[in-house]
Amino acid sequence: MLYTHWYLRKQADELLEKFKVEGPPVDVKMIAEKLGIEVVELTLPTWFFGTLLDIKGSFYIVVNRLMPETRKKFTLAHEIAHYSLHGDKLCYMKNCKRDYFHREADAFAAELCMPSEMVKKEARNWFNDYKFLAKIFDVSEVAMVRKMQEIGLIKGTDYTWVFAQK
Ligand SMILES: [Zn+2]
Repeated sequence: MLYTHWYLRKQADELLEKFKVEGPPVDVKMIAEKLGIEVVELTLPTWFFGTLLDIKGSFYIVVNRLMPETRKKFTLAHEIAHYSLHGDKLCYMKNCKRDYFHREADAFAAELCMPSEMVKKEARNWFNDYKFLAKIFDVSEVAMVRKMQEIGLIKGTDYTWVFAQK
């Protein structure tokens, strides 16, 4: 990766601050629109998640309508990340083979949908109940667990244990 994880998180947090997002769920579509990006949902083949398009200086994000809402939200956040981080080098689409662009976008998107500080606060209120937290942040349970592990709220071992209980 070209950017550090810390930097990517900070970029996402700055966007949240700029648009005064104070609590979950993060309205990712609103953020796209405030950035002047038009969000378009289309019925597309299942392997297609979404893409960011620059058509003569106007930005569009295309999202596959057939995906679950949580997946759409993450895809939207991922494309907003490309816009914020790589907007001036959209050649990533085709030949550049810059895989790290997508890893950077994923890190940014995770923070945008599940801001670390917000997750910590809510996790304290709801006793680390990842299922409930996933619901209030409007993300998948897997994504929430991953985030909670990343910021040290649950350990890898807790995670197996939690699932073993079900
Ligand atoms: Zn990407």
